[in-house]
Amino acid sequence: MTDRNQELFDRAKALIPGGVNSPVRAFRAVGGTPRFVQRAQGAYFWDANGQKYIDYIGSWGPMILGHGHPAVVEAVQKAVLEGFSYGAPTEREVELAEEIIKLVPSIDMVRLVSSGTEAGMSTIRLARGATGRKKIIKFEGCYHGHADALLVKAGSGLATFGNPTSAGVPPEVVQHTIVLEYNNIEQLEAAFVEHGPDVACLIIEPIAGNMNFVRASVPFMKRCRELCTQHGALLAFDEVMTGFRVALGGAQSVYAKLIPGFEPDMTVMGKVIGGGMPLAAFGAKRAVMEQLAPLGGVYQAGTLSGNPVATACGLATLKEVQKPGFYEALSATTQSLVSGLTSAAAAEGVTLCGDSQGGMFGFFLFDELPQNYAKVMTTDGPTFNTLFHGLLDRGVYIAPALYEAGFVSAAHTAQDIADTVSAARDVFKLLGK
Ligand SMILES: *Cc1c(COP(=O)(O)O)cnc(C)c1O
Repeated sequence: MTDRNQELFDRAKALIPGGVNSPVRAFRAVGGTPRFVQRAQGAYFWDANGQKYIDYIGSWGPMILGHGHPAVVEAVQKAVLEGFSYGAPTEREVELAEEIIKLVPSIDMVRLVSSGTEAGMSTIRLARGATGRKKIIKFEGCYHGHADALLVKAGSGLATFGNPTSAGVPPEVVQHTIVLEYNNIEQLEAAFVEHGPDVACLIIEPIAGNMNFVRASVPFMKRCRELCTQHGALLAFDEVMTGFRVALGGAQSVYAKLIPGFEPDMTVMGKVIGGGMPLAAFGAKRAVMEQLAPLGGVYQAGTLSGNPVATACGLATLKEVQKPGFYEALSATTQSLVSGLTSAAAAEGVTLCGDSQGGMFGFFLFDELPQNYAKVMTTDGPTFNTLFHGLLDRGVYIAPALYEAGFVSAAHTAQDIADTVSAARDVFKLLGK
């Protein structure tokens, strides 16, 4: 049989760098041929060979309802007939802003954009514009999109400025970016002692999904909040992945339950709010948001921002997730996956631990959950790759890299979880030997 995935990949590689339009899709970390998706429905997708997979990526987060949810499809079909884009405001943009502001109490005003990268980049500019300060703090292993100032890894030594992680980013462009270790309170305090009056914002993935799945500890998050307040810096939560994914109110609602009165100052959103269409947003308190053009001096714009088809898709998705019991059911499904995987591993003598919140999860080939990027990156690559390909061969599609989180949708059934755990147990059997 001809392998259509391979054929398409060969064609793609001649035309598109690496054959893909976003790097991790290329399977470089795990080796092998990327699956070219032909169609998807519910918790599954089918590749170009017609092979079916249980999907634990869900477009890297957006597909919280599963693929092709009927109410969302209907909303999109209706919107498409009314026109694709106008470059003028629409009622649906107002409705989506109202929904976001209603569900996320720290946000008074919001602006819609087309990607998480844009939202993150604009948040940094707005924080700098609103505070009149230059420096930003970010954490190693957190991803906030591919804007120049955010493509940085820690420099050597404490609270030094970072080094660009991409060619094409001059060191001068990242000289105001301070990169610290996640969950390291000492480093955080030292950075504020040294740079406090110059810090415009601290940006963080509160539950990091770009170094697999790592939670900010409660004492660490509390200290982030205190230090930002004390030094007049803005605390920016990058909830592109966690927003409407880990809970209806995002990760900030999870921390608000653990830290009384807790709120970030700025929030970056994407993924689920577009329901699979290009849509993202950033929001904050009114005084900060009013610094944006056309009211204020911080420029930001977008031809397709608040696109009428994307907003229809996002609104229909947000309507579904607000149904009573939605997150309880999703959390229970996700927890059953993580506990199923850890028990199956234990039964076969494989070291594995995992964690989840709402519909987002991670598992590690460790005996305890890692707290930062350096630890995540000590994962045994070859073992992970065997696990990845073993699952793929058995019709289970997880992220093709050990530093990515996984996603469960409302369409995943108990049978899907059982099939996944059973496939994993087969693979653990091979690994345990
Ligand atoms: C995906 C992601 C982004 C970037 O969003 P894009 O839509 O891919 O540009 C930013 N921050 C976090 C936390 C993300 O997971």
